[in-house]
Amino acid sequence: MKTIAVANQKGGVGKTTTAVNLGVALADMGYKVLLVDADPQGDLSSYLGYTGAANSATLSDLMESVISDEPAPEVVMHHEEQVDFIPSDIGLSDMEVRLVNVMAHERIMAQALEPFKDKYDYCLIDCMPSLGILTVASLVAADRVLIPVQAQHFALKGVVSLIKSINQITRRIKPELEIDGIVLTMVDRRTNLSKDVCAALRNSYGYALKIYRTEIPISTRTAESASSAHSVLSYDASGAASVAYKTLAKEVVDNERVRQQHHTPLTR
Ligand code: ATP
Ligand code: MG
Repeated sequence: MKTIAVANQKGGVGKTTTAVNLGVALADMGYKVLLVDADPQGDLSSYLGYTGAANSATLSDLMESVISDEPAPEVVMHHEEQVDFIPSDIGLSDMEVRLVNVMAHERIMAQALEPFKDKYDYCLIDCMPSLGILTVASLVAADRVLIPVQAQHFALKGVVSLIKSINQITRRIKPELEIDGIVLTMVDRRTNLSKDVCAALRNSYGYALKIYRTEIPISTRTAESASSAHSVLSYDASGAASVAYKTLAKEVVDNERVRQQHHTPLTR
């Protein structure tokens, strides 16, 4: 299982939308996908139609079981678009407070997700918009970080501090953690501003960071899909955003293949 944290502490840049639609696109390609809602806002869970009505266990309950050394509750929900997910709700914010006093709290999420390693090909963790304990725990649980960036001026300002945090994690806790890349979201190719920002980002940072070739276009249908309990891939199957997320999924898989080829001789 490759675990990818979808993170950016800037709010509203398309993390949740990317986690859901990239996840469904990967499932469409035949991969087994687990989505993890690591945001107390519970947006990923709502996107997938979770209401909490059945009082089912959440990520917070799973983490609590790790902390108190109890058997793990049944937390995985299934969505009809062939992705599984671990839901969250506002209760996760209590867990963030609780984690402060827990020994080796940065590793709790990694431990909680450990049992799923041989059941899935990809796990995508939808992070909350902060660099707090929960986000750090999500990054420590991940192999890579995918950073959605909205095509706007100053978009990369926050990314610099995210990268600093990632570097601290690689130095102190998890040397294997890597930045997967940046994906440009809500791109409006009709406006010069959007085109200029994309070009500027690629020119200034493209040498240091992978910026995915695929750009996610701005589309009302994508925003609408979030309240339909379906991904944009089924809500607007032939739409530009749907096509973009499928192309992004292929790029993510190719990227993974290249990394594996690159790493294999070294580990033998
Ligand atoms: P938060 O930081 O609050 O977790 P986020 O980074 O997860 O936010 P999303 O919730 O995915 O961001 O997106 C923010 C808003 O933008 C949502 O209303 C969403 O529906 C909308 N949105 C996301 N992607 C697109 C797109 N490609 N086109 C149009 N609207 C979009
Ligand atoms: Mg979100």
